[in-house]
This record gives sequence, C-alpha cells and structure tokens, in this order.
Amino acid sequence: MRLTGEPTGETRLAGVIGWPVRHSRSPAIHNAAYRALGLDWLYVALPVPPGGVHDALAGMRSLGIEGLSVTMPHKAAAAAAVDACTADAAALRAVNSIRRDGDRLVGDNTDGGGYVDSLLAEGVDPDGRRCVVLGAGGAARAVVRALAGAGAASVVVVNRHPGRAAEAAALAGAVGAVGDEGALAGADLLVNATPLGMGDDASLAVDPAPLPAHAVVSDLVYHPRNTPLLAAAEARGLRTVGGIGMLVHQAARQLEAWTGRVAPVEAMLAAAGGE
Ligand code: NAP
Repeated sequence: MRLTGEPTGETRLAGVIGWPVRHSRSPAIHNAAYRALGLDWLYVALPVPPGGVHDALAGMRSLGIEGLSVTMPHKAAAAAAVDACTADAAALRAVNSIRRDGDRLVGDNTDGGGYVDSLLAEGVDPDGRRCVVLGAGGAARAVVRALAGAGAASVVVVNRHPGRAAEAAALAGAVGAVGDEGALAGADLLVNATPLGMGDDASLAVDPAPLPAHAVVSDLVYHPRNTPLLAAAEARGLRTVGGIGMLVHQAARQLEAWTGRVAPVEAMLAAAGGE
C-alpha cells in the first residue's frame, strides 16, 4: 500500500513504449488508477525508437517491469517479439499490452475490447446491430473484430484503399463485408476509425445525413472531444459516443491483467479528461 504517493523500495513499475510517447495520456490514466486503488505502482512513458522493441522487452524481463503498454510504431514488432499472444493479438498481429507470466511475456490487444466496453458503458450494445466502420488501420481492425465478437449483425468496412478494407472486414468473419458510403442508410452504428477530424483537422469523416434517426455515431478520435463528425451527428439529433471511453477502457483492461484488481474507471476517465 502506497500511503505517501511517493515511490518506495517496494514500488512496482509499468509503462508505455512508443515513439514519440512523451505526449501520451496513459501515465496520467494509469497512475490515477493506482492512486485510487492505493497500489504502490508507478507508470512512466518510455521513449523507444523504431527497431528498439526487442531491446525494450529484454529490459522488461531483466528489470522486472510488471506491464507495458505498446503504442505506435511498435504494435506489430511487439507481436513478433513476445513469447505468446492472446487470440486477439494473434488475429490482429498487433500487441498493445504486455504482461508478465513468470518468465514469459504475453502480448494482448485490448483496443477492440476496450472499444466495446466504452459502448456498453454508454448503454449501447452492439449485439444485433448493423455496423459501418470508416478506416481499415490498426484501430479499425481491432474494432471490426470486437464488434463481430460482440454479436454485431454486420460489420461493413469503408476505406479509401479497398484492399485494406477487405483485410479488415475478414476479421469479422461471416458478418464482415466491404462497402461504401451507401451503407450508411442501413446502419445502426457508425464508427470513425480514421484520423479525419483530429487536432486542427476540421474535415468531416463522412456526412452523417443518410443515417437512420436511431443510429449511434461513434468517433475514435478523442482530441478534440467534440469532433466535426460528432458535432454534425448531434446537429442531426443522433446519439454520439466519443473516443475518450475507448482510451480509458483499453487501459482498464491492461491494468486488470497486470494487477488483478478491478479498474477504477471513473478515476481513470477523470484523469483522461473525460467527465
Ligand atoms: P492507421 O493505422 O494509420 O489507420 C488510419 C486509417 O484511416 C487507414 O485506414 C487510412 O486509410 C484512413 N485514412 C487516413 N487518412 C485518411 C484520409 N485523409 N481520408 C480517408 N481515409 C484516411 O491509424 P489508427 O492507429 O488505426 O488510428 C486511427 C484513428 O483512431 C486515429 O485518429 C487515432 O487517434 C484513433 N485511435 C483512437 C483510440 C482511442 O483509444 N480512442 C485508439 C486507437 C486509435 P488507408 O488504409 O486507405 O490508408
């Protein structure tokens, strides 16, 4: 139990490897959780340049680091460097979380599960829903697989490069398909998994006008919180879910795997800049 908030001789270490990584919100989110749980743990940002994953994992083993988050550009390299992968990490060929299991390092991917958790936390259950996912990159692939796993009736991937869309859609198995913006008219859930609308980019990922009135619009982009897509959807009176929830819930799954404790999601949301 950490009483003072200062690291002690007993402090356990966790962190995030990435390049760049100093901007990451993960230290604030994880450390807030440790404080809320009274855990004598510390989570730090560890800049690891491209090509450095093998050495970083050797360091994790030798230093006894308890858990590592993995962010860009290391997710694929980490999947190849760990001793074993979970089913999600193996299917996605991407690892965003590494836990120690004795001497073995086990890679997991909590992005998709965290995304579905963030929907469920808002009372949106993907079970039986017709979903349209914009984008076919790492985040989209994780979301496509997780939506299918959560019982989505269909998962249509819309992407500017159709080859990548087909690869992503395959992750949804029988309910996956490649489509175009025409799919919006029959969608119950629209997910933006492209960077369109991020930061100073004012572009609308897609015009939500064709969506049915009951559709839910979700954006993985969380900076700004009210993205152009979410603003356009709200202006139409559609229900929206922002990307901060996914950021927090993918971290919550990591924390639970590493510490064995139930994640204090509210404290993590507050630290992430959510409510
Ligand atoms: P990524 O692997 O680079 O993939 C980006 C995807 O967006 C690709 O499919 C790409 O299309 C498409 N795209 C990029 N620019 C585009 C444009 N101008 N017009 C149309 N399509 C475009 O990125 P990622 O890691 O999947 O991340 C995607 C977004 O999700 C980012 O904004 C990221 O911040 C966000 N994200 C959020 C969370 C969270 O926790 N909330 C987690 C992960 C990611 P092509 O395949 O055709 O190149």
